[in-house]
Amino acid sequence: MTDSSNNKKLLGKVAIITGGASGIGKATAHLFAQHGARMVVIADIQDQLGHQVATSIGIDKCQYVHCDVSDEDQVKNMVESTVQKHGQLDIMFSNAGTLSCSASDQTILELDLSGFDKVIQTNARGMALCVKHAARVMVERRVKGSIICTGSVAASQGRQLSTDYCMAKHAVLGLVRSASVQLGQHGIRVNCVSPSMVATPMSCDALGMDAEQVEKISEPNSSLKGVVLKVRDVANAVLFLASDDSGFVTGLDLKVDGGHLGSGYKLQ
Ligand code: NAD
Repeated sequence: MTDSSNNKKLLGKVAIITGGASGIGKATAHLFAQHGARMVVIADIQDQLGHQVATSIGIDKCQYVHCDVSDEDQVKNMVESTVQKHGQLDIMFSNAGTLSCSASDQTILELDLSGFDKVIQTNARGMALCVKHAARVMVERRVKGSIICTGSVAASQGRQLSTDYCMAKHAVLGLVRSASVQLGQHGIRVNCVSPSMVATPMSCDALGMDAEQVEKISEPNSSLKGVVLKVRDVANAVLFLASDDSGFVTGLDLKVDGGHLGSGYKLQ
């Protein structure tokens, strides 16, 4: 990538990224800023990490706000304060997500409701609230915006474990498909990006492994032998969906999985 403004795909845009303090969200915040976004607002519940990300990108281009996406008042405030401070909202990357503490107890026979509720509240309800409030300000201000949700390959197959996570990611696909149909008349595009396993704090914590170990198990899930999925690969797909390069793309589930689903491989 050169610094030429011709190559900057988000010049002047204002974006919100939830779950922007870490992993995929953090990588996407950096990429959006590199592509000329006027302001990237990262929303998360990890305040210290969030502030660090904003500082590393530059506080003239990136702002951190505390927002628990499962709380409607906080989501509404985050969206409305972004528009008040920065004049518009062009892109919502609804990405915040969580897993139950232990994947091993999440078969349907051993479903733990406290873990279940947290996953559904964050990964399904939180996504719907972010789409709702972003879409409302876009419609009101006649912005032909782009909304992207983070799904997963877990939205396209059954899992041996993590029933709650798999359910919530299926819900994200239903949300994206319905919202894309409903918002198309306003010129608003809604798409999903669905990664296979990528080494981030979430997957490392859930598996009790470090990034190198997670990459070793994720690599055979791809048809691309010797290629490991990196957060930057997911961020690049999000950039495509956020930018005018995908101007006629809506309701899509863009899989970033190295052919994992096509190969019929099943994750645990
Ligand atoms: P991550 O843990 O690095 O980042 C997730 C971020 O979401 C964290 O900063 C966390 O604090 C934040 N978050 C959690 N609950 C929140 C809440 N209620 N409100 C606001 N922020 C909250 O993990 P990641 O892998 O970058 O996850 C990002 C998204 O990617 C998630 O939706 C996840 O389900 C999805 N995903 C991850 C993988 C993977 O293998 N890592 C694969 C497919 C999909």
